[in-house]
Amino acid sequence: MKIGIDAGGTLIKVAYIDDEGRSFERWPSAQVDALIDRLNAEHTDDLIYLTGGKSAYMAEKLKHHEAISVEFEATYRGLLKLMKEQDVRLGHFIYLNVGTGTSFHYAGPSGQQRVAGSGVGGGTLIGLSTLLAGVHDYDSIIHLATQGNRDEIDLKVHHIYAGRPTPIPGDLTASNFGNVLSGEVSKLQPADKVQAVIGLVAETVTAIGISLAEGFETDDIVFIGSTLLDNTVMKDIINRYAGLKDARAHIIHNGEYSGALGAIL
Ligand code: ATP
Ligand code: MG
Repeated sequence: MKIGIDAGGTLIKVAYIDDEGRSFERWPSAQVDALIDRLNAEHTDDLIYLTGGKSAYMAEKLKHHEAISVEFEATYRGLLKLMKEQDVRLGHFIYLNVGTGTSFHYAGPSGQQRVAGSGVGGGTLIGLSTLLAGVHDYDSIIHLATQGNRDEIDLKVHHIYAGRPTPIPGDLTASNFGNVLSGEVSKLQPADKVQAVIGLVAETVTAIGISLAEGFETDDIVFIGSTLLDNTVMKDIINRYAGLKDARAHIIHNGEYSGALGAIL
């Protein structure tokens, strides 16, 4: 069996590949030592391939491993494989890995290059949701967010223009959290706050992606990373925002496993 591991800041993504097929597994990065113990005890004959920020740590503690890949290259190899499997055929494109933070890449004929980074990402989603709404569990946050309404929190372009014609779509957010002083804040529920947090993260990374896509003369923006996992609020915002700007958003199924898969390739 071949085992590909992408050990990130928040989650360790594991891909198991053998003659019978492929399976995936997620571990919290805080449990890295438990994963290492399992691999050392139960996978002595398997080939282990590593990538991600915590790969050097894992390599030190594992009894054996085949190779360590540079994270950005491994992720790109895995992403191309997943895109091919899912019939997403693009000439050149921008892709975003929305992990703990977000990294932005351009993919063209000569491979990928990292073109931007932002500290706004999945870690922001969890950190701000904890501070503002007292919810820290990822699954609880994303489910709660589906029941919220961020209208009283975010300032939209049409709020500023107050019924007059707007030079850009009125439904665009003019300022995330910018309506708090004018909105009815006392009525806000945790669901509204976590939805606004997801809005901030989704709109920030999508806006950067759209600008990069314009600069690199493509309409296609590909999204991967565990921050999209079951996150319907985030996915809806990404699709709507990209649509408003005439860009095409492609959210890759199992995209969070790109690095783990690519480490093996
Ligand atoms: P990086 O690449 O930045 O080092 P990473 O590889 O750990 O980090 P991802 O796994 O792509 O990053 O994404 C991490 C984010 O995914 C978290 O910040 C959180 O928002 C979200 N997430 C999804 N599922 C979970 C989960 N079960 N537990 C914690 N976070 C989760
Ligand atoms: Mg990662």
